[in-house]
Amino acid sequence: MSKIIKRTLIVSSTIVLLLFFLVGNNAFANTFSGKYTTGNLTWKFAGSYSSETQKKLLKYPKKWTALSSKLNLTEEGNSYKYSRFRVRYKLTKPPTSGLLGRTFFFTKEGSSLTYTDRWWKATVSVYNNSDANTTNKHATLVHEAGHAFSMAHCNHPGKKHIMHQGLKNYTSVSTYEKNELIGKWGS
Ligand SMILES: [Zn+2]
Ligand SMILES: [Zn+2]
Repeated sequence: MSKIIKRTLIVSSTIVLLLFFLVGNNAFANTFSGKYTTGNLTWKFAGSYSSETQKKLLKYPKKWTALSSKLNLTEEGNSYKYSRFRVRYKLTKPPTSGLLGRTFFFTKEGSSLTYTDRWWKATVSVYNNSDANTTNKHATLVHEAGHAFSMAHCNHPGKKHIMHQGLKNYTSVSTYEKNELIGKWGS
């Protein structure tokens, strides 16, 4: 193979890689490949909370659903089992030391799924973690709800993004994350 052909090959494969990287970055962004089967969701809390407390806590996941007309969160009239957005708030200690929260995905019948699947319901857990104050726990509720709505972690040092990992003393969804959610669900 001549030197010129070799060089051309290297240059073009670099371009292909660069294109793949750019397209790949855009296509995947900071969202999961999986999502809820439909965005018409009903909420229910595990445990017993006053309707006043439930209303206060629901403000946090609703920071996401308020951003897209494709996501609707209304109260489940039936039992917890039939609710599609299920909240477990401060009910259990972290299963692993330091863990703030976790989100689990399921079929309608309750079989476990992963973030690459199409889930019918999700359970959002905020653990009773003694390292976290009330604001930190509210931030975790927004964060975990973000996972239920297909938001993945992001890492932009210096930015106040709710999908960053760790303790957060803010509960807002950033403009960047708003656009990511709309990219996934539509406006
Ligand atoms: Zn970020
Ligand atoms: Zn997370």
